Amino acid sequence: MKNELNCKVSQVVQVSPMMKVIRVTPIGWELPDFIPGQFVALFLPPSVERCTEATEQHKNSPEGKMIKRAYSIASSSKMKEHVEFYITLVHSGALTPRIFNLQIGDSIGMGNRFVGMFTLDNIPEDKNIVLVATGTGVAPYMSMLRTDAMRRKGNIAVIHGAANSWDLGYSSELTLLETISPNLIYIPTITNPEKEPGNWNGEKRFIEPIWQDNIVEKGWGFKPTAENTHVFLCGNPRMTSSMTAILEQEGFTEHSHRKPGQIHVEKF
Ligand SMILES: Cc1cc2nc3c(=O)[nH]c(=O)nc-3n(C[C@H](O)[C@H](O)[C@H](O)COP(=O)(O)OP(=O)(O)OC[C@H]3O[C@@H](n4cnc5c(N)ncnc54)[C@H](O)[C@@H]3O)c2cc1C
Repeated sequence: MKNELNCKVSQVVQVSPMMKVIRVTPIGWELPDFIPGQFVALFLPPSVERCTEATEQHKNSPEGKMIKRAYSIASSSKMKEHVEFYITLVHSGALTPRIFNLQIGDSIGMGNRFVGMFTLDNIPEDKNIVLVATGTGVAPYMSMLRTDAMRRKGNIAVIHGAANSWDLGYSSELTLLETISPNLIYIPTITNPEKEPGNWNGEKRFIEPIWQDNIVEKGWGFKPTAENTHVFLCGNPRMTSSMTAILEQEGFTEHSHRKPGQIHVEKF
């Protein structure tokens, strides 16, 4: 099955000019089990046309060799019919301009190894969790929340930063979760408020000052500390690095296989 275009695109939702939610359905094989937060490879041959927004770069990627990249899974691990992804178009990229040209029914390849340590697997049920994302970094959190994270005993905070309000994918679903569940707070923030066509009454600051302003403490009614909370950071490497530095000053430590900690990082 290696390098076979073993899936069909079964849904495409244009979230914003540069972001799409894409569902991929396996054809003739069963999805293996995976843990919410994990990622998998998507791939296409260079012969697939690129979308019109793409720049000249990577127009002629080497023939024959599949173009493969990692993508976090946004759908629930209980969903066996399809896998959902939330993808940003990189105009100069090799794969995303090709993915952005796909229509429902088109073929795409997906690896059969779902991997990654960015999961809630070893986080005790009573610990609180803060899920911090920029852009499409919210994808693994959607998988966690859609699977079983809402049943946890601890509190949950989702902090999602994007350039514009229309780039805040999954905001309706996250707003609904906040409305119906007493233990989840959702803090969306935008960094280009001057481009908003209407009023934006939410946060306009970067994630770092929002965190330093104790916004989670204000929402939960108690301070998140290394003793009671695990923090997940996903997306832009600049955000994950600066948030890691801030959290370390507050006594949190970065998690690794050898040295368990409370900061969990996935860089896109
Ligand atoms: C574990 C993991 C999970 C990931 N999950 C997702 C996901 O859920 N959704 C998603 O959209 N991406 C995700 N990515 C990123 C993805 O793997 C690709 O790197 C991305 O889609 C760009 O691929 P490309 O072939 O179009 O661009 P490439 O040809 O790989 O890159 C072209 C140029 O663009 C730069 N670049 C790469 N990504 C970006 C970006 N996002 N913004 C601006 N410039 C960029 C590169 O540095 C390079 O210079 C993930 C990456 C990892 C490692």
